[in-house]
Amino acid sequence: MHTGNQPPHAGVILFGPPGSGKGTQAKILRDCLHIPHISTGDVLREHVQAGDPLGLQVEALMRAGKLVPDELVNRLVEERLDQPDAVRGFLLDGYPRTIRQAEALERMLRKRGMAQVVIHLKVDYNKVIARLSGRRQCPRCGTLYNLASNPPKVTGVCDKDGSELLVRDDDRESVIRQRLEAYEEQTRPLLERFRRNGVGFYEVDGSGGAPEAIAAEICRLIERG
Ligand code: AMP
Repeated sequence: MHTGNQPPHAGVILFGPPGSGKGTQAKILRDCLHIPHISTGDVLREHVQAGDPLGLQVEALMRAGKLVPDELVNRLVEERLDQPDAVRGFLLDGYPRTIRQAEALERMLRKRGMAQVVIHLKVDYNKVIARLSGRRQCPRCGTLYNLASNPPKVTGVCDKDGSELLVRDDDRESVIRQRLEAYEEQTRPLLERFRRNGVGFYEVDGSGGAPEAIAAEICRLIERG
């Protein structure tokens, strides 16, 4: 799927509910888009793991499946976009999640003369719940597995580096419900805004098919512009 084409000079947003496959897609798309993958969830989890002041501030909210404050994530994203590797575009996973975040991102893109491209990963809700509750992750290399659709070769062990796989704290059932609620109430309304804006809004069926086939479709859409 490696195309060698120019990076898109855009902020590409992978949009969808928790469990729609944003993280998996972002990892595959790196090879076709040649732009950095920015996951606000990953950045926040790093702070929590480090136990720094920001991590301590957000830890309880994340454990409860609630969104962290807009100003805080907006600042993290703006700082990340100032890194040299983001000058030719970037792939956002898990951001924006509220109207205020969407407005902040629009300002950041305007300032950088970049377009916005939204990829909406459409998925069936029952699939989302099955995916999230079966999700396992390698704490060392970040590889994602799913007990139903993409299990590791040896139960509980990463294929790549042999680490013991973990369940994310917020992939437990009561928290999954809270995360889906946060999506419905605060994030889904963004779809209307993206549709209204018209430019660069694409919908992709994220339910069926191999992740590589879904990524190839996304890549084609972005290259076609
Ligand atoms: P994710 O890995 O994208 O599912 O994010 C995990 C958790 O991090 C979310 O449930 C929120 O608590 C927090 N988080 C990640 N991105 C954002 C965001 N853009 N706005 C607010 N909270 C976020």
